[in-house]
Amino acid sequence: MINHNLKIYNTLTRTTEKFEPIHIGHVGMYVCGPTVYNNAHLGNARTFVSFDVVFRYLQHLGYKVRYVRNITDAGHLENDADEGEDKISKKAKLEQLEPMEIVQRYTIDFHHVMDSFNALPPSIEPTATGHIIEQIEMTKQIMANGFAYESNGTIYFDVEKYAKDNNYTALTGRNLDDLLNGTRELGGQFDKRGRLDFALWIKAKPEHIMRWPSPWGEGFPGWHLECSAMSKKYLGNHFDIHGGGMDLAPTHHTNEIAQNVACNHIKNPINYWMHTNMLTVNGQKMSKSLGNSFLPFELFSGSHHLLEKAYSPMTVRFFMLQAHYRSTLDFSNEALQAAEKGFARLMNAMKLLDDLKSSTTSTSDISELKTKVYAAMDDDFNTPITLAHLFEGVRIINSVNDGKESITEVDKSELVKLMSSMVFDVLGLKEENAVNTDKIDGLMNMILEVRTDAKTRRDFSTSDLIRDKLKEIGFEIKDGKEGTSYTIL
Ligand code: AMP
Ligand code: ZN
Repeated sequence: MINHNLKIYNTLTRTTEKFEPIHIGHVGMYVCGPTVYNNAHLGNARTFVSFDVVFRYLQHLGYKVRYVRNITDAGHLENDADEGEDKISKKAKLEQLEPMEIVQRYTIDFHHVMDSFNALPPSIEPTATGHIIEQIEMTKQIMANGFAYESNGTIYFDVEKYAKDNNYTALTGRNLDDLLNGTRELGGQFDKRGRLDFALWIKAKPEHIMRWPSPWGEGFPGWHLECSAMSKKYLGNHFDIHGGGMDLAPTHHTNEIAQNVACNHIKNPINYWMHTNMLTVNGQKMSKSLGNSFLPFELFSGSHHLLEKAYSPMTVRFFMLQAHYRSTLDFSNEALQAAEKGFARLMNAMKLLDDLKSSTTSTSDISELKTKVYAAMDDDFNTPITLAHLFEGVRIINSVNDGKESITEVDKSELVKLMSSMVFDVLGLKEENAVNTDKIDGLMNMILEVRTDAKTRRDFSTSDLIRDKLKEIGFEIKDGKEGTSYTIL
């Protein structure tokens, strides 16, 4: 039995609830993955990095987690109201490529982005096109249960019928009548009976390239259906956590719940709904269509007109962790530069940790620090508070290293365990340029020897010059009882 007090904010109940898995020791988690018709931008990355921390922390607590994150490679139309062209088909036509060439290119890009942010791969990464049969079966079942109808080769979900006995808007808490009044009249789709009805299976027009045979003629699945079909296949009819960006809650996730309930005769298919807030630029959601999006590699190389310089992947990850996943995170050069300094300070302390000298007494309470760190993570994965406590750890490390404070051997090993498991395993940060660090270290030690030599010869102008020049470059030299050490500023 895992001993913890993890609490999760559940969009469905609009409260923070104690996390109780359906099967002791196991967690099933589904997160809506990217639509691979474009390079993933930094906003997309923020959502997936947030769930990476959730995945890592659940595993750290000892759960066996099955994390399913899909790849949408068909069925996502330009407009969420089932209108427009399929995003992937459109791009394929534009570039005169096979749709699967587009899918391959941007899936590889997405994996590359996730890798550079040190995000762990999910346990299963299913694709929509790999689960056409499951989606057809689900459509058939929903029709058999009386919640869908055929109209001209397209199958629609009957929202008004469903809403008679079920709370269709449970996830957003919106009033159904307001929603009906706010929805355009049938959106030009006269095959639909009700204006909130959405397509489970869409008849392919002659020019549509991505098409599959079905009992209703050639067509392709609706976007919402893939997630219901794949989560059912890999996590079952009732599972623990479902996540995605909060922009998905009103339509995509609302329709997913309706499909699951209508197909599987289950009242509450998912126990916890988690939604990440948006990455914004000057207060506006980062989005490809608004033209305010950066690609992660533009950040890493500094090649975007809004960027004052390049930022490393771990600086960007650290920047993301400085906000809670349910708050918006506004991009700015100042915030990233502050993150760069914070991350360097954290990594410097991590380097000192193993070699700290232990004493007979401790001046700090490490077990209290540990309690605070876990309480912050248990409070709906509150990474900014967790980081604030980890910086208390950084302060302790630096003070012990400077000889201003002391730590016992037992406390030191607790601190090493706490800091490294939280910083590396849970928050997923890592030392950058590990190969070069050794070289820098060797070079610095050589320079410091030359400086020590100058000092012994009482050539203080040379030793001071070395110290000042190093400071200009960004290395701080400290002369201590144990010799001279350096930190990267
Ligand atoms: P898409 O590829 O458009 O289906 O989006 C993939 C994921 O990224 C979804 O969960 C979206 O909610 C999320 N997303 C899109 N834009 C942003 C943003 N600016 N900030 C955070 N998440 C976003
Ligand atoms: Zn989805």
